[in-house]
Amino acid sequence: MAAELAFANLADVKPFKTEWRIQVKIVHTWTQYTQYTGETVEMILADTSGTLIHATIKKQQMNKLQRFITSGEWRIIEKFTLAKSTGKYRATKHGFKMSMMQKTVISRTPPLSDDIYLDLANFQDVLDEGGLNENILIDVLGQVVSFNEMKTHDVNNKITKKLDLELRDTNDERLKCTLWGRFAEAMWNACQNAGTERVIALLRLAKINSFKGERSVSNAFDMSLLEINATYPAVLEFVANLPPDAMPLAIQEAKPKHGNQLMKKKEYYDRFPRKTISGLFCFSEIGKCNIIVTIMKIDTDYSWYFFCCLKCHKTAYKIPKVENEIAKKGKKEMFWCPTCKEDTPKVVPRYLLNVGVMDSTGDTNFLIFDKNAQEIIGVSAEDLLEGNWDEIQDPTNLPQPIKDLVGKTFQFLVTVGKENINETDDTYKVSTVWLGNDFDNLDTIEDSDQPTDQHNDLSIDQEALALTYSSETTDANGPTSSTPSSKRSIDDCSVDCEGQSSTTKKACIPSILGDIEKEEIEVGKK
Ligand SMILES: [Zn+2]
Repeated sequence: MAAELAFANLADVKPFKTEWRIQVKIVHTWTQYTQYTGETVEMILADTSGTLIHATIKKQQMNKLQRFITSGEWRIIEKFTLAKSTGKYRATKHGFKMSMMQKTVISRTPPLSDDIYLDLANFQDVLDEGGLNENILIDVLGQVVSFNEMKTHDVNNKITKKLDLELRDTNDERLKCTLWGRFAEAMWNACQNAGTERVIALLRLAKINSFKGERSVSNAFDMSLLEINATYPAVLEFVANLPPDAMPLAIQEAKPKHGNQLMKKKEYYDRFPRKTISGLFCFSEIGKCNIIVTIMKIDTDYSWYFFCCLKCHKTAYKIPKVENEIAKKGKKEMFWCPTCKEDTPKVVPRYLLNVGVMDSTGDTNFLIFDKNAQEIIGVSAEDLLEGNWDEIQDPTNLPQPIKDLVGKTFQFLVTVGKENINETDDTYKVSTVWLGNDFDNLDTIEDSDQPTDQHNDLSIDQEALALTYSSETTDANGPTSSTPSSKRSIDDCSVDCEGQSSTTKKACIPSILGDIEKEEIEVGKK
């Protein structure tokens, strides 16, 4: 029998042969899924000299090898292939990446060291534009000195949490850091519960990003590993060397959007004609209209959310649990996607709000899709469901944040489609929502005592405001009469709707107007 090969240093392994034998610690492992490779197990391995290498177990070897993969344990690995490490997310600075093959053998071996083999990057080297290679992931250790409010972003059609924070090192150098998804949530919780304690973040496999010459770090999808207030010797030493003068950890106030950003959005809105609801009914071109309306009701004939298949972005349906089946913890719920014609666990709940809206000229229905709904509700559908992905049983039992929409006034861009013009559908699709606080640029409020706050619950003030607004806009479209008050709106409406065949739309207008007028009069009395 041939003598066993000596252990090679990780620094020496190269692609020219496969007969390598190494003794390594698994310092980090994660699973990865891509359409091309399917599910793989990824690892970061370290040898006793501290050299790190990225290694992959492909689907084909998973059954045989996966059981040997435990983070923190030592293994002997024999026979594997190596390939050049390329791409924008190179996990280590090793020039090569390992792949297990059919003849790979992994065996257990007693631990050789407690070291976690960090490859910590100096903040200054991260910040320097000519510094570290952005394509190679790094380990970052820092004290969180400030954090922003949690935000949500639409990333590849999946609503994802995003948390921006600032780290400092022992030289008091500052480095901006963005965390996404579960990383953002873990950090958010730690910061919220920190009290007067320091929050120390250890982010392994962090990605260096560069934006307009400013460099920052973020987690690299699920590859990264975040440990908060870890007690490794390296972390304790870091804490001991921190300058003592850090300010208490505080949440940063949300910065107001840049004026020019707001201006841009306003300019965009101004490109489209401003309409009232009655004006919308008469609009006979396919296109977009700019409109201010108050949400009157949530149509509970429809569910307020649907499950979106992440593959085709169409509706998927929950597959009911098999009766008497023991619910396994962590077992993924399955959904049927009629478009992909397959069962899938990969779905996300999304808003699809059917709302009744009104202004002083009429009422109609708007359909508000996920992103816009989230903007006006303030949380994602996923967060609102809190993991309860069962079908709705009582449609009137709406979550409070959705109920709270009733009575609120928003400016929308709505799409006027063919189905709206030929009246086969009376629901308009909302294209974008405007939360800008400058409604008063759009209308002149005749009574200067009228509050302009758009975010109260349904109140006479808002209706009055919508009324004022409508008489302004109809000026642009209709006859130039200067008579203020709601009376005019009725006149305008009848002008607007001349020649329109739908009576159902018209029929609803006077009654609503009547109510508003009544309330207006009462306001006047006060
Ligand atoms: Zn699908």
